Amino acid sequence: LASREVRPESSVITVGGFQAGGGHLGVAAGPCSVENEEQIVEVAKAVKAAGATGLRGGAFKPRTSPYSFQGLKEDGLKMLATARDETGLAVFTEVMSPEEVDLVAKYADVLQIGARNMQNYRLLEAVGRCDKAVLLKRGPSATMDEFLLAAEYILDGGNERVMLCERGIRTFEAHTRFTLPLASVPYLHSKSHLPVIIDPSHGTGHTYMVHDMAVAAVAAGADGLIIEVHPDPPNAASDGYQCQDYAQFENTMRRIQKVQKAL
Ligand code: PEP
Ligand code: MN
Repeated sequence: LASREVRPESSVITVGGFQAGGGHLGVAAGPCSVENEEQIVEVAKAVKAAGATGLRGGAFKPRTSPYSFQGLKEDGLKMLATARDETGLAVFTEVMSPEEVDLVAKYADVLQIGARNMQNYRLLEAVGRCDKAVLLKRGPSATMDEFLLAAEYILDGGNERVMLCERGIRTFEAHTRFTLPLASVPYLHSKSHLPVIIDPSHGTGHTYMVHDMAVAAVAAGADGLIIEVHPDPPNAASDGYQCQDYAQFENTMRRIQKVQKAL
C-alpha cells in the first residue's frame, strides 16, 4: 500500500494548515518536551510567526534513562491542545503504547511513532485503526525495507495518512548523535508515494548543524521538516543541545522558503 507502483502520484497529507507532499512543504516545530502551558503557548506563537504550520512537543517521552524527565503525560497533552486553540497549528506528539492511543488521539492532530517504537507492531496496528495522521519515525537501526513495512502495518489498518520521518541512524560515527542520510529522501520517493519528513534535530544532535541540514533536506526534495525549537535551549528539560532558539529558527525558515521557491 505504501508502494509507488500501487499509487504513482505522491500523497498529500493535510492536517489543518499543515500540508506535506506533492510540492507542499510542512514544517512542525517546537520543544522536545512540553514543560508548562506558558512555554508551549509561547513557542507555538513564535514558530507560527516564523512560518511553521505544525507544533511539536512531547508529553509521553521515551527517555534512555528512567531517571530522566518522562514528560507531563495527559497534562502536557492538554497544554498542547491549548496551544492549538490559540494558534491553529497542527499538534504533533508521540504515543508510546497501544493502550495510550485513544488518550493521545483525543488531543493530538498527528500521532508520532518514535524511533524506538518503529517495530512495535501492536502500536502500529493501533494507530492504523485511528483517524489521526501519523508521523512514523525510522528506527535507528532499521533498514529502508523494514521502515516501509512498518508503514505498511499502519496503512493496512485503514489509516492512509502516514508520513515517513528520517531522523538518523546509529553508525560507528560519533561526531553527530545519529548519522542523517539525506539520500533517504530520493530513495523513499522512488519507492513510495508517502511524504518524507526530515528531522535535522535528532539527526545531528547539535544545534549548529540543524540549519544546514534543514536547508539541504529541502534542496533534496523533502516534503517537510520537524525541528526542535526552545526559547532557552540550555535550560530545556530535554534535548537542549540540539534545539534552535527563535532567531535561529526564523533564519532557517527564511532560507528554506527561498530554497523551495528556487526548486
Ligand atoms: C522526539 O521527537 O523528541 C524523539 C524522541 O524522537 P526519536 O523518536 O526520533 O528519537
Ligand atoms: Mn527530542
